[in-house]
Formats: sequence, C-alpha cells, structure tokens
Amino acid sequence: MNPEDIKVLLVDDEPTQRLILEQRLKAMGVNQIIQAADGTSALVRYHEANGNVDLVITDLVMEPMDGLGLMRSLATEPPEKRPPVAVVSAMDETVERATTSLAKALSYPFMGFIIKPLRAEGLVKILENLDRYRPGPGQHTSDLAKDLEFSIEEVEQGLAKDQFEPYFQPKVDAKSFELVSTEALARWKHPAHGLVSPDCYISLLEREGKIHYLTETIARKSIETVSEFFNHHINTSVSINLSLAQLEQYDIVSRLKQLAAQYRVPHENIYIEVTETAHIRDVATTLETLSRLRLLGFGLSLDDFGTGYSSIQNLDILPINELKIDQSFIADITTNVIHRELVESMISLGKNLGVTVVAEGVETEMQCQLLARMGCDQLQGFFISKALTANDFIASFKHRAA
Ligand code: C2E
Ligand code: CA
Ligand code: CA
Repeated sequence: MNPEDIKVLLVDDEPTQRLILEQRLKAMGVNQIIQAADGTSALVRYHEANGNVDLVITDLVMEPMDGLGLMRSLATEPPEKRPPVAVVSAMDETVERATTSLAKALSYPFMGFIIKPLRAEGLVKILENLDRYRPGPGQHTSDLAKDLEFSIEEVEQGLAKDQFEPYFQPKVDAKSFELVSTEALARWKHPAHGLVSPDCYISLLEREGKIHYLTETIARKSIETVSEFFNHHINTSVSINLSLAQLEQYDIVSRLKQLAAQYRVPHENIYIEVTETAHIRDVATTLETLSRLRLLGFGLSLDDFGTGYSSIQNLDILPINELKIDQSFIADITTNVIHRELVESMISLGKNLGVTVVAEGVETEMQCQLLARMGCDQLQGFFISKALTANDFIASFKHRAA
C-alpha cells in the first residue's frame, strides 16, 4: 500500500506526542491523518470516517477510554472493518504481555508496539507490514471458518465432492528470508461456510478412522502442486501433516513413492510432519513405517515440539530430521523470559541432534530477529505469510526464483 493511500488514526492524550508522530508519518508520505485524545473520541472519528481507517496508532493510558478499551470496541466491528492497531509503549513487559493476550483473545489484527522514545524505524516497519494485517479476502486466520460442527457424513460428502484442498504456507531461511519449504494445510471449500479450518474436521475424521481419505487428497494435490512450482522455477519442499492414527488403514510409504514418481518430485522434497506418539497402539509398526520413509529419503518432522503431545521422548525414538517449535512458545518470546529460555534450549537441542529447527507462528519482526540471533534455522508464520492458494503462492514467489 502506498503511504499516500494510508489513512491513520492517531490516538494519544498528549498533544506533543501526537505532533511528533504526525511529523514522522508526514515525512514518510502519509498525509491522511486523523487524531483523537482518547478511545471514546477515537471511536467517534472512526465512525465519522465510515470505518475507512487503515491503521490505528494508539497510546495505552488515556482517560476516559484507554487503548485496550479502544481495541475491545473496534473488535466488535465486522472483521473487514477492523483496522490494524499498533500501540505506542514505553517497553513495560507486563503491559505488553497483557495487550498481546487481549489482542489474541479478541482475534484482533494487532501489529505490535512502537517503542518510546519514538524512532523512525519502528514506524517504517509498521507501515511496511500493514498489508499483511489489513483485513480482506484471505488476509488473516479470522476468515477461516472455525467453531463449526459437522457430522462425519457431511465431511465425507465434502471429500467425495472434492471440496478439500491444500493451502501452502511458506517457510523461510531465518537469516536470508529466502523460501526453503512450504507446509500444506488442509482447507475445506464449503459451499455455505466458505473456507473451513482443519480444526473443524481433523479430529472427527481421526475418531471415525477416516483421516486417510483427507491425507490422500492433500498428499496427491500437494505433490502435484510442488511439481507445478518447479515448472515456475520455485524450488521448494512440501510438508504434509500425517495423523499417526491412520497408519494401519493406509500404506503411506508406497503411496508417497507412487506420487513422487508420478509427479517427478524428489523424495527429499517431501516431508511428513507428525505430532503425538503417546497414544499409538502399535508403536513398533509406526516406527517401522516412519523409519522406512526416512530410508527412502523422505523428510520427517516433529511438529508442535514442546507441547505435551510432542515431547522429548519422541526425539529419542523418531528418526526425524526436522523439529518444529510449537507456536505457543513463539507467541510471547519477546516478553516471556521463560519461553525465551525454553526456545533457546530447544534450538540447541536440535543443533546437537543435527536436525533443522523451525519456529512456527512467527508474527512480528522482533520475533524474527530474536530467533535468527538464537540460531533457529527456519521461520514460519503470519509475519512471513499466511497459507496461500497454489496460484497465489506462485504469484508471490516466482519473481524471487532464480
Ligand atoms: P499445525 O500443523 O501446527 O499448522 C500450523 C497452524 O498454525 C495452521 O493452522 C496455520 O494456519 C497456523 N499458523 C501459521 N502461522 C501462524 C501465525 O503466525 N500465528 C498463528 N496464530 N497461527 C499460525 P490451520 O491451518 O488452522 O491448521 C491447524 C492444524 O490442523 C495444523 O496445525 C495441523 O495439525 C492440522 N492439519 C492441517 N492440515 C492437515 C492435514 O492435511 N492432515 C492432518 N492430519 N492434519 C492437518
Ligand atoms: Ca504441521
Ligand atoms: Ca505445528
């Protein structure tokens, strides 16, 4: 988005702070600036502008309505009318944690903090990242339908009608930001509900012993799509999520071999992501299958590492070559000292084992910098990109391909 097209709502009770911000923004070419001295008057300005505000930059402590109250009120607007919010703050960890948690609880597009005293760099980053946070088709997770309940018959019908397909979320090198891989995430293109999140059907399919139908669709379409990426000179691997509950009904090893041969995708460009092994009935068979995948050159990744389901024991028994640190540790890594220490340990554990370490759920520039400094190999998250359709993925990455 061009600076001259961005309309900013500045909210601060100190006129001098507003003036400084206004001058900084103008120097960057942002001319459409409206101002308010607290949350209540900010809401009035917002409605006067018919909700056409692209970015809200707000102070936290104001009377009568503070910055948190403002975000809470804006969260009641329909998703496409919620302007991203950035908060000007004096680096208080407790306050930052509370603000981040509130934004999360509200599913609000929260861009993070501009640290006082104001420097130009913070603002530049906010403006650069604005497009990623702006509401619009396919922009944020909130446009994925969640909390819907389906019967197994409905899901099966959707599968029979070929309504499921993978979206692709890039993973980049933590230092160079170059594309290295992509994770295939299942999306149901539901005729009535739009795009439906995997959370609404994965565990149902697992419980009903039918998850392999979805895996088959996602594996086939993902491997076919990767060969299409190759045609556009986008050299990437693809990761497919595998539910370990299905291995008895579905011969994943021979199926992946067939698909790789059919679409001419090298085995080392195909990764399988697994999580819990705690509840597997037949551990020996599962291990045999996963080991055979590795022997054939496919990649094996341990997903959601650090959570109860994906714990240290798995490292011991699984022949993995990649470790994905769960997003719950990354979310507050810049403010939660304990999580920061844990992530640091997970990274060095991964290094000692000689596996690639990936951080999931990276949402801010600060997280990226910190993770790169800690030696994390790859980053995945909304800060880099949400999951994209195959076509959008090609459009985004083909110009960067060598
Ligand atoms: P996962 O494997 O941990 O995938 C990452 C999830 O985090 C995805 O949610 C992704 O959209 C979301 N995510 C990515 N970046 C960010 C970020 O920066 N911030 C936040 N807050 N979230 C981020 P999604 O697509 O809803 O998938 C949910 C879960 O469903 C996946 O978690 C995976 O376990 C499962 N899943 C998805 N596709 C399949 C599939 O084809 N088969 C199986 N068995 N499971 C699948
Ligand atoms: Ca995964
Ligand atoms: Ca994960």
